[in-house]
Amino acid sequence: MTIANKVQQIRGRIETAVSKSPFRQQHVRLLAVSKTHSASAIQAAYESDLTEFGESYLQEAIDKIEQCKHLPITWHFIGPIQSNKTRAIAENFDWVQSIDREKILLRLNDQRPKESTQLQICIQANIFNEDQKQGADLTNIRSLLDLAMDLPNIKPRGLMVIPPMQTDYESQSKQFAEVYKIYTELQQDYPVLDTLSMGMSGDMQAAIINGSNMVRIGTDIFGKRNKK
Ligand SMILES: *Cc1c(COP(=O)(O)O)cnc(C)c1O
Repeated sequence: MTIANKVQQIRGRIETAVSKSPFRQQHVRLLAVSKTHSASAIQAAYESDLTEFGESYLQEAIDKIEQCKHLPITWHFIGPIQSNKTRAIAENFDWVQSIDREKILLRLNDQRPKESTQLQICIQANIFNEDQKQGADLTNIRSLLDLAMDLPNIKPRGLMVIPPMQTDYESQSKQFAEVYKIYTELQQDYPVLDTLSMGMSGDMQAAIINGSNMVRIGTDIFGKRNKK
């Protein structure tokens, strides 16, 4: 199957999931996760009407952003962030979804170029008490949002979550429902939030049915990832 066929199929699956969702999302954004895939694969996906791409490995991402600079792509950084890499992220990306500590937020705000628009950010939530995983717990999510609200070059948009891996629909659904509840509670206090980034190739349907409005899809668009 070509990338165009796969994208068409995914769009159909998104539509079906929205029709089954009690939330009837106006729009579910499809973020194409292109990490480890080439600039020509990105070009093919772009020609299938995808305009938002997610990358996790900085150097590789910067090379591809340079190769694709003739395309009006919105770039999202979704990988773990080392503090010595924040300048390059602030200079090259439109969104950062993997914010999990204050230091990173402060550096991105300071290093965002003056001529750029605000950096759109999601807090990466770790609400299932997974020790080894990136992300902020509920208390930290709130203090990060408080801080983000005060930073002139940062615009808080929502939460990004990678819940513990589950293969059956019921368990996926239960976890996503918990995230959605937290997200809507946060929206009461931070009405600026409009993005709930959850759902990947293996759990996209459950995520949308439970309120996601942005799915991050790699494998189902580009095939298996090339080894790093
Ligand atoms: C790699 C990655 C994805 C894409 O996962 P697939 O299972 O290939 O769709 C989504 N989100 C994040 C944060 C990732 O690192």
